[in-house]
Amino acid sequence: MKTAIYPGSFDPLTNGHVDIIERSLKLFDHVIVSILHNSAKSTLFSLDERISLIKEVFKGNSRLSVETFDGLLVNFAKSKQIFSVMRGLRAASDFEYEFQLAAMNRRLCPDLETVFLMTGKDTFFLSSRLVKEVALLGGEVSSMVPKVVEIALKNKSGKNK
Ligand code: ADP
Repeated sequence: MKTAIYPGSFDPLTNGHVDIIERSLKLFDHVIVSILHNSAKSTLFSLDERISLIKEVFKGNSRLSVETFDGLLVNFAKSKQIFSVMRGLRAASDFEYEFQLAAMNRRLCPDLETVFLMTGKDTFFLSSRLVKEVALLGGEVSSMVPKVVEIALKNKSGKNK
């Protein structure tokens, strides 16, 4: 069985992530969405909230699981003996960072391969950071995130009537 790790913060899951996950499932039998737990970085959604939102969106899909990790991605990959990592690429600015990260990870673990999927035509402008900003300022994000995430964002901004 071919399995890939899809690491990220997912704070929260957007339709951009969903698109990458769905397309990764065409290439791999199983995808482990792996949420980076970084206690030094403050997030809007707790680790548990991020896990349950992703599980809710992909409920019933046994080809996807959600796990968490802290520290280096390469150590997580080695512990699972899974050496395919999915990443999404948006604009040129993503490329620069992702290029460095992939090269560093390969230096740390030569077996590790990073597979990049180009962002979708309806999701290229989406980032968790921007979606959070818009939602917390009362903007409409229903076309940018799954329904459960939209509700969770409304709850955070105290605007759920
Ligand atoms: P973000 O960069 O939005 O805060 P993450 O750290 O959770 O999100 O990102 C995890 C991975 O998903 C990264 O490889 C990132 O480039 C990718 N990704 C995030 N949003 C999109 C999008 N709209 N289209 C394609 N890839 C994306």
